[in-house]
Amino acid sequence: MKCEKCATEISADDSYEHSGQTLCEDCYLDIVAAPKTCDPWAVYSAKKTASQDMRLTPEQQRIFELIKNKGPLTLGQICADLDISEEEFRNNFATLRHMELAKGCKMEDQVCFMLFDD
Ligand SMILES: [Zn+2]
Repeated sequence: MKCEKCATEISADDSYEHSGQTLCEDCYLDIVAAPKTCDPWAVYSAKKTASQDMRLTPEQQRIFELIKNKGPLTLGQICADLDISEEEFRNNFATLRHMELAKGCKMEDQVCFMLFDD
């Protein structure tokens, strides 16, 4: 079978279902870890910021520190620990991800978030 997004050959064991699509792990994680709306300007400004300095908003800093100290963590753990909504997390995490500070990964049956270099 093939990933419906990037057409990579995948085995049934490596496939993930999302909104009726069969996806490879990379594409699945991309969707799960990405904000709901695609904002090219946010990606651009995040990259630009990263190349100049690594200044994060206080909320991004808190997420980064939490993942750094306690990660890998699930979305539920992070939201509970920081008392933020899933949407707030996704929006802030997208910046951390674009800056290559943090990433999503699949552990057993859960998506977890960890530092990019881990
Ligand atoms: Zn794919």
